[in-house]
Amino acid sequence: MKDPDAIVIGAGPAGAAAAIGLAGAGAKTLLLERARETGDALCGGFLSWRSLARLEALGIDRPALGGQPVRCVRLFAGSRRSETGLPHMAMAVSRRRLDTTLQAAAATAGATLERGIHATAIGDGRVQTRDGAMLAAPSLFLASGKHGFRGFPREPAPWQRRDPVIGLRLRLPAHPALARLIGDAVELHLFDRGYAGLVRQEDGSGNLCLAVHKSRLDEAGGHPAALLGALGDALPALGERLAYAEWTQGVDAIGHVPYGWRTAETAPGLFRLGDQAGVIPSLAGEGMGLAVASAEAAVAAWRRGGPGAAPDFQERLARRMARPFALANLVWRLGENAGLAGGLTSLAAALPSMVRLVSRATRVN
Ligand SMILES: Cc1cc2nc3c(=O)[nH]c(=O)nc-3n(C[C@H](O)[C@H](O)[C@H](O)COP(=O)(O)OP(=O)(O)OC[C@H]3O[C@@H](n4cnc5c(N)ncnc54)[C@H](O)[C@@H]3O)c2cc1C
Repeated sequence: MKDPDAIVIGAGPAGAAAAIGLAGAGAKTLLLERARETGDALCGGFLSWRSLARLEALGIDRPALGGQPVRCVRLFAGSRRSETGLPHMAMAVSRRRLDTTLQAAAATAGATLERGIHATAIGDGRVQTRDGAMLAAPSLFLASGKHGFRGFPREPAPWQRRDPVIGLRLRLPAHPALARLIGDAVELHLFDRGYAGLVRQEDGSGNLCLAVHKSRLDEAGGHPAALLGALGDALPALGERLAYAEWTQGVDAIGHVPYGWRTAETAPGLFRLGDQAGVIPSLAGEGMGLAVASAEAAVAAWRRGGPGAAPDFQERLARRMARPFALANLVWRLGENAGLAGGLTSLAAALPSMVRLVSRATRVN
């Protein structure tokens, strides 16, 4: 594309949502994605009713996504268990399905999606790519997500640097017994220094994602499969579900998830979105909702003030994130504390309204 108005780096939920908004507003938009094919990113795939509404505003309706309906949240900690109905229907969908749908919508809106383009450096309205090209646009949108980007470090809190968080994912193939066990719930299995989230996706398979501290993985010899085996032995409900796992597909892993990090800083003309703006703990927070909300806010700011609006946008977004991040951090820290997780689960069983309140207060509005 010649002389784009905007270049978006990364075609995950944040980047694709930004490209839809920018192209819809008439901007010549170039969307760069390093992957040649859309993969199934490591993510729980849970979309709340608020995120679904945000996607609908971008023209992505629920039937088009076709995910599994989710109607309740089920918590497990030791021998305790709670179940709370959600106020509205949520959905679980694979990232392959979600990202493909969003990227198609970006192309329909008029954005040009270029795949296999790996941005390696950005600054002063320029994007350097791994194949040696230099692209330029007055406005840049950094949406490279979970992966670090040179020159834009995402420093986790000091205590996390000592014992970083690792993301793991194991697939449980569709099975009638698994469907009976999980049903239409999103399950959260809490344990010492981590948690596992489990939900069924559009094909009926279970998507089991864990956020676990490295020290816990080290205790299992550094092997994710050994850790899952040990957790299955210690936590009967999780063990029952792991009996349906497809171990031959292996366990996906992503290192050093900087939960709780957020920034108010940016460079001139650069809008930082999604996980490049802040990483909300996924036990209570919703990173994809934040990704789409940040894209929406960036496009609105860009429409009002062009590239010059970036610093103000970044500061406002950081302020909007402050309260939901503080609460999501607190819930996450309680949930991964073996001594407190049981109390949290009993409280959730006794006070379902509290669960709904927390779920509302941890969303970035
Ligand atoms: C264990 C775990 C479970 C989670 N579960 C949930 C959940 O259930 N619900 C939820 O809402 N959130 C969840 N999240 C958070 C969610 O996955 C992220 O917040 C969300 O993916 C952020 O979207 P994004 O678009 O910013 O980044 P990403 O989804 O990471 O997308 C970034 C895109 O940019 C591309 N890219 C990266 N680098 C470059 C480059 N240099 N050049 C070009 N392209 C590049 C990547 O290939 C990718 O397509 C979870 C996170 C973890 C760790």
